[in-house]
Amino acid sequence: MNLLPHKKTANPVYIPAMSTTTFTKQPPGVDPIEPALTPPSAGNTTSFVKKKLKLGSGKTRKREIPAGLWTKCPMCETLVFDKELDENLKVCIKCDHHFVIGARERIHSMVETCTFEEMDADMISVDVLGFTGASSYKDKLASNWKKTNLKDAVVTGVGMIGKHRVALGVMDFSFLGGSMGSVVGEKLTRLIEAGTEKGLTVIIISTSGGARMYEGMFSLMQMAKTCAALGYHAKVKLPYISILTNPDYAGVMASYASVGDLILAEPKALIGFAGPRVIKDTTQAELPPGFQTAEFLLDHGLIDSIVPRKEMKQRLIGYMDFLMTGRKAESVA
Ligand SMILES: [Zn+2]
Repeated sequence: MNLLPHKKTANPVYIPAMSTTTFTKQPPGVDPIEPALTPPSAGNTTSFVKKKLKLGSGKTRKREIPAGLWTKCPMCETLVFDKELDENLKVCIKCDHHFVIGARERIHSMVETCTFEEMDADMISVDVLGFTGASSYKDKLASNWKKTNLKDAVVTGVGMIGKHRVALGVMDFSFLGGSMGSVVGEKLTRLIEAGTEKGLTVIIISTSGGARMYEGMFSLMQMAKTCAALGYHAKVKLPYISILTNPDYAGVMASYASVGDLILAEPKALIGFAGPRVIKDTTQAELPPGFQTAEFLLDHGLIDSIVPRKEMKQRLIGYMDFLMTGRKAESVA
């Protein structure tokens, strides 16, 4: 029985039973046959289940996305690498969805390097009404200063876009929903007046939920004040370009944002006075498809053009080449 028949040797070798036992113990790392044939004990089952769980938890860990690295596009649901999104001016690389962009990032993307001189950078709101609610206005302001690193919802200043010096105001939605209080109104009015005085094109890029309720009547007065300043700007025949970005509503749309000589908007931006739900409830009518989008407004003649963010700078340069050439000739003559 211990004869090795395949070995065609002249003298067949007999291996004693004892040496067979010794042989099976010899190779290191080779599983002995015996445990495999033994039915798994209770202890073995437990370890098997544990292993399974470990595998499962490993998969879950893989699915977790580290914060601040990727952003999911709300339109096409693609995960976009944040760095790539920043380089693409916060526009989805797959579907061209325009994400909300901060005021400083936008200025950086449009104005020539080192030419922007900010105005009234330290102007801050005062809690004139002593507003208290779920949290006080003072607390809201303090938390927003910290969160956004901005003093209020607009950044204003003078800078170069191409070869044109412009008075530029850019709103930031992340500061109290881009709401217009006394500071937004005052900073924009001073910007417009500086533009008029220096003979510059005024460009205001707006995004807002409307007037700031914490300042009551004082915020509503900014609508008239900004429009009055724009009236003087128009009197000296200087251009004002208004750029509407998502979202743009209420008091801002009902004042300076809608009185531009040229009104541009970013694709698919939501623009209106009251929100669609309020209008639907009030009129009891079905709203048309695409209601309050930039495309809808363009079809109905309320805005002049829709300009993708990445083309905005070049388009503005083109418009100013046209609008300011005559002006320069006029001032030289
Ligand atoms: Zn997308």
